Amino acid sequence: MADLENFRNETRAWLVANCPPDMRLPLEDDEDRYWGGRNATFNSEGQRLWFERMAARGWTVPEWPKEYGGGGLSREEGRILRGELRRLGCRSPLDSFGIWMLGPALLRYGSEAQKREYLPQIARGEIRWCQGYSEPNAGSDLASLATRAEDRGDHFLVNGQKIWTSYADKADWIFCLVRTDPTASKHLGISFILFDMRTPGVSTKPILLISGKSPFCETFFDNVRVPKGQVVGELNRGWEVAKYLLTHEREMISGVGRPLGQVAADALGTEAGVLADACLRADIARFEIDSAAFRFALERTGDLLKAQQANPAISSMLKYYGAELNKRRHELLMVAAGSDALEWESERSRGGDAARSWLRTKANSIEGGTSEVQLNVIAKRILELPGA
Ligand SMILES: Cc1cc2nc3c(=O)[nH]c(=O)nc-3n(C[C@H](O)[C@H](O)[C@H](O)COP(=O)(O)OP(=O)(O)OC[C@H]3O[C@@H](n4cnc5c(N)ncnc54)[C@H](O)[C@@H]3O)c2cc1C
Repeated sequence: MADLENFRNETRAWLVANCPPDMRLPLEDDEDRYWGGRNATFNSEGQRLWFERMAARGWTVPEWPKEYGGGGLSREEGRILRGELRRLGCRSPLDSFGIWMLGPALLRYGSEAQKREYLPQIARGEIRWCQGYSEPNAGSDLASLATRAEDRGDHFLVNGQKIWTSYADKADWIFCLVRTDPTASKHLGISFILFDMRTPGVSTKPILLISGKSPFCETFFDNVRVPKGQVVGELNRGWEVAKYLLTHEREMISGVGRPLGQVAADALGTEAGVLADACLRADIARFEIDSAAFRFALERTGDLLKAQQANPAISSMLKYYGAELNKRRHELLMVAAGSDALEWESERSRGGDAARSWLRTKANSIEGGTSEVQLNVIAKRILELPGA
C-alpha cells in the first residue's frame, strides 16, 4: 500500500510538471485528438510535448509489458494513473484503434514476431490502424462476410468490399476479416489478417454523414497481395480473434468523458458556486452518480478479465450501458448550452460543435455491434433466458 501511495504521489507530481496547460483543457472537437500515423501532424507544441513525454514512459499503453513498448504498470498502478489523469483533466496523449482494439488481440493471439513488430509501433503512434470487419451484407451478422482471400502459395490474394471502415482514408494499415475457406461453415473459414493500406489494389471512398462529417469509408480490395505471415492466430480461426477484439472495442466505445457539471458550469456560469437551474442540477447529479457507478463497473470488469473470471458477454452489458450513458451526457450538454447548442458553425471558444457531437452519439448504439444485438447477447449469455 505504501508503494502504491508513493506511486500516486510521484505520478501526480510528474503529471503536474509534464502535462502542458493546453492538454488539460477539454477537447472541443474530434480534430483536437492526436491519432498518430505516418502522416500525423501535431495541432500544437503542447500536444507534441504531451505525446512525446507520455510515449517515452510507455504511458500511451501503461499496462502493456515493457518489452512491447508499454509502461509495464500493474493493474493497481494503471488504475492510479487513470485516476490522476482524470483528476487533472489531462487529454489522452494518443487515440488509436491499435491501442484500443488490435493491441489487446495481438497480445493474446499474435506470434512473438508480430508482437515485437507491431506493438511498439502502436505504443509510439507510428502506425494508424483501421478496422475492416463490416461489409454491405455482413453487419450484425458479421460471420456472413464474403471478402475472400485465396491461397496463392506464399501469399493470399484478397478481393471484396468492406463498409463503415472508420478513418480508412487516413489509416496506414488495416486489421481485416477475410474468408479463407469458403467450404467451411460460416464461423469457421474466416481469418484475421493485417496489411498495409498502400498495397496495390486497396482503395477507399469516404461516406458523408448527417453531421456533415465523413469519418468512415467504403473500402475496396482488388487482387491485394498479403504475405501469409500476416495472419494473426490460426488460419481459418480468425472468428475467435475477431470476437476477442470486439470485447475491447465495446469497452472502448462505452468509455465516458469529462465531468458534465464542470462543462455545464463553464457554459452557463454559476450562482453562489452552483448551477442556477435546479432541474438541470438534479439531472447532472443523477448522471454523475451513474457515471461513477459505471466507472467502478469498468474497473471491476478489468480486474475480472485479468483474473480470467469474467463472463466474456459482460462487454455487451458495458457497451449497451456506456452507449446510453454517452447519449444522455450529450443530451444534457445540449440542454446546458441552451440555444447556443443549436449553432452549426459555432465558435470553438464556446465549446462549439455541441450539435455535431450530439448527432455523433446517435451512432453509439450502432458501432461495435448494435444495442439490439447486445441485448440479445445479454439475454442469452448472461440472463440465460429460455428461447433467447
Ligand atoms: C460510427 C460507426 C463507426 C463504425 N466503424 C466501423 C469500422 O471502423 N469498421 C467496421 O468494420 N465497421 C464499422 N462500423 C459498422 C458497425 O459495426 C455496423 O454498423 C454494425 O455492426 C451494424 O451492422 P449494420 O449496419 O449492417 O446493421 P444491420 O446488421 O443490418 O442491422 C440493422 C438493424 O437490425 C437490427 N438487428 C440486426 N440483427 C438483429 C437481431 N438478431 N436481433 C434484433 N435486431 C437485429 C440491428 O440492431 C439494427 O437496428 C461502424 C458503424 C458506425 C455507426
